[in-house]
Amino acid sequence: NTFAEIDLGDALNQNIRRCKYVKPTPVQRHAIPISLGGRDLMACAQTGSGKTAAFCFPIISGIMRGQGQAPQRPPRGARTVYPLALVLSPTRELSVQILEEARKFSYQTGVRVVVAYGGAPINQQLRELERGVDILVATPGRLVDLLERARVSLQMIKYLALDEADRMLDMGFEPQIRKIVEQMDMPPPGARQTMLFSATFPREIQRLASDFLSNYVFLAV
Ligand code: AMP
Repeated sequence: NTFAEIDLGDALNQNIRRCKYVKPTPVQRHAIPISLGGRDLMACAQTGSGKTAAFCFPIISGIMRGQGQAPQRPPRGARTVYPLALVLSPTRELSVQILEEARKFSYQTGVRVVVAYGGAPINQQLRELERGVDILVATPGRLVDLLERARVSLQMIKYLALDEADRMLDMGFEPQIRKIVEQMDMPPPGARQTMLFSATFPREIQRLASDFLSNYVFLAV
């Protein structure tokens, strides 16, 4: 019933203590063990429920213990980067919020988090990406742009989190989201672990879930 009892890896457990998180929120209490166990997840979660940590902790923990080796950095001058995890979010504001939280959680873990959102010049984002990225936090439109420029490849994605999926659909991002997820559907099948967070569950969200998740756990807290 405390984070100290959940083994997320020493560095991450220490960061959680630094953030003064002691007890998991309800969505964290249920979502984290499901994701650590490797299952796909569709969770009902409002802003303020602690959903950011709910998807960040299993991703960071998984990457940390994944290869048992330091994450690879692209050689200098390499143009295409291969993130291991992708967090899709509807807006620049939410993306920056997720980036800031994720950076606190990944402090001294060797896991590098980068953000890319639209409505801002792309050059600085490209420079950040060139320094290497394990977790990419992105808005759908800007990510499609990066994919078309071949600056990002999704071939190595092991974790996909869709945050505020209902808002992304309301904003008309469904075509972009489908285009993005299609690029991850490469062998081996089932290699990707997906978490979908939404405040509401209209039919369109359920369709996304059945298209993107496999054998998933539905969580409503
Ligand atoms: P979120 O729903 O992810 O936007 O989180 C809402 C706020 O709650 C953020 O300011 C988090 O830093 C904080 N928070 C998330 N989980 C916990 C926790 N287990 N204990 C204390 N604060 C938390």
